[in-house]
Amino acid sequence: MERKGKFIRVNCSKCKASQTIFGKASTKVRCLACNAVLAIPAGGKAKIRSRVEEVL
Ligand SMILES: [Zn+2]
Repeated sequence: MERKGKFIRVNCSKCKASQTIFGKASTKVRCLACNAVLAIPAGGKAKIRSRVEEVL
């Protein structure tokens, strides 16, 4: 069973900034530092476009 409310720490592939995002984002998640797209919504799950550092 999938856990609800899973957070993922990702590294921006552009500026290497570390950011914690919600694993089930329903909107595009952008890097706070450089505005690169970190995750896009895909069927209830976020599709991660950056490097996953850690699942919280
Ligand atoms: Zn960035």
